[in-house]
Amino acid sequence: MTSDLYAKLANRLGPKGHITDAADLAPYLKEWRGKFMGNTPFLAMPASTEEAADVVRLCAEAGAAITPQGGNTGLVGGQIPLGEVLVSMKRMNRIRSIDAANDSLIAEAGVVLTSVQQAAADSDRLFPLSLASEGSATIGGLISTNAGGVHVLRYGMMRDLILGLEVVLADGRVLPGLKALRKDNTGYDLKQLFIGAEGTLGLVTAASLKLFPRPRAHLVALASVADAAHALHLLHRLKAATGAVAAFEVMNRLSVDLVVKNVADRRDPMPGAPMMALVEFEGASDIGFRDAIENAFASAAVANVCGNVLIAENASQARDFWRIREDISAGHRPEGAQVNHDVSVPVSQTPAFLDRANTAMERTCPGARIVAFGHMGDGNFHYTVMQPEGMSADRFPADALTQTVYEVATQLAGSISAEHGIGVVRKDDLIRYKDPQSIALMRAVKRALDPNNVMNPRVLI
Ligand SMILES: Cc1cc2nc3c(=O)[nH]c(=O)nc-3n(C[C@H](O)[C@H](O)[C@H](O)COP(=O)(O)OP(=O)(O)OC[C@H]3O[C@@H](n4cnc5c(N)ncnc54)[C@H](O)[C@@H]3O)c2cc1C
Repeated sequence: MTSDLYAKLANRLGPKGHITDAADLAPYLKEWRGKFMGNTPFLAMPASTEEAADVVRLCAEAGAAITPQGGNTGLVGGQIPLGEVLVSMKRMNRIRSIDAANDSLIAEAGVVLTSVQQAAADSDRLFPLSLASEGSATIGGLISTNAGGVHVLRYGMMRDLILGLEVVLADGRVLPGLKALRKDNTGYDLKQLFIGAEGTLGLVTAASLKLFPRPRAHLVALASVADAAHALHLLHRLKAATGAVAAFEVMNRLSVDLVVKNVADRRDPMPGAPMMALVEFEGASDIGFRDAIENAFASAAVANVCGNVLIAENASQARDFWRIREDISAGHRPEGAQVNHDVSVPVSQTPAFLDRANTAMERTCPGARIVAFGHMGDGNFHYTVMQPEGMSADRFPADALTQTVYEVATQLAGSISAEHGIGVVRKDDLIRYKDPQSIALMRAVKRALDPNNVMNPRVLI
């Protein structure tokens, strides 16, 4: 039966549209860090919505499950198949249209994020989503994980940047939802179901995306802060005084020390700073822009809200500041056993989260080393706990530490997954920490849209 399916798929997609050779499949079956390895009998690479719809229909008719894949940059394993038919969207890589006067563009699911940013810039517009994987992550993957990144504070998450979606449903029908409307009160907003669904409800084939005016003024600054409470004060002072904060990231001391130690050619921009806030500002004009920011920092320093401040004098210095932030994961990866978390709490609770989590980590694993960094302006920390110096890796209580981090976030009305999603790694934790009514409703939605469990059946719920 299944060989019959693969023959039908191969016939429909042609030689460019499928792979079955083991060596050619290999790059699609391994997650970039090597954390997830998979297998598949068949990789389908549709080049149009019609082909994608036929792939899903044929799989559904044959009772075969599908794992969708975009750029394979996801961090929770949802894009790696274990025996499912793998559907890569890479060949659906066209920008279908741009309507600058409507501040919108339509991109296919396999378009890489930097190409959308460039297409917007070519029309003197901004597509504001930005994250370190932007050279590989695709629009379909970014939608399916509801990606965040560094500009959420100003522009929102992927969900907030979508006007419409075209989706192949689990039985192969196509939901034609690409209208680029700011207002459409005609019932349930169905596109929202597929955003953040991690490929479990349908295959996203194209999206209508929101564009924004291109900022004419930019500035990146690095400020020393005593702790998260001071960082929070600084955030609000800068927002109120400038109205121009586009990104507000924090990095604790250890996160920067490990970048300097383990990443070639990196130096500490602020030796001795207990914590650093990396702030990006955007404005519509240069007039008065830098003065307002300098004045805001000066008054914050007088009030002891921050210490030293470095303002990037040119684009290359700004890149250097950002590079420290972007290299934090590479900096602590070689440091032995560790557990990573991507949690969020209300922005007001970020200092409480760090205080409580750090105290609880020390209690559970004395000497544990903590790298805390990330999108504090959105209430989102990437919080990594590493084995104490000298401890053998097999004594590191990874699971207990993770449950404690999640309990602290939950007590503060937070979430166990701020932006990376659930995938295959956090399924048990989702059930443990999300309220039972929401879980029941999620299961009902899955049953209604995909009763035969065709779409990414091992993922999310
Ligand atoms: C260095 C680095 C930095 C990162 N920084 C951030 C960050 O700051 N913020 C953030 O949110 N994420 C971040 N990520 C995570 C990652 O880039 C995002 O999850 C991204 O959205 C995944 O896009 P992708 O195209 O690679 O999707 P994939 O990894 O291929 O797939 C991700 C999920 O989406 C599903 N999927 C993919 N395409 C489709 C489709 N067309 N239809 C239906 N389902 C689909 C897959 O089945 C899978 O479940 C980072 C990753 C890396 C490697």
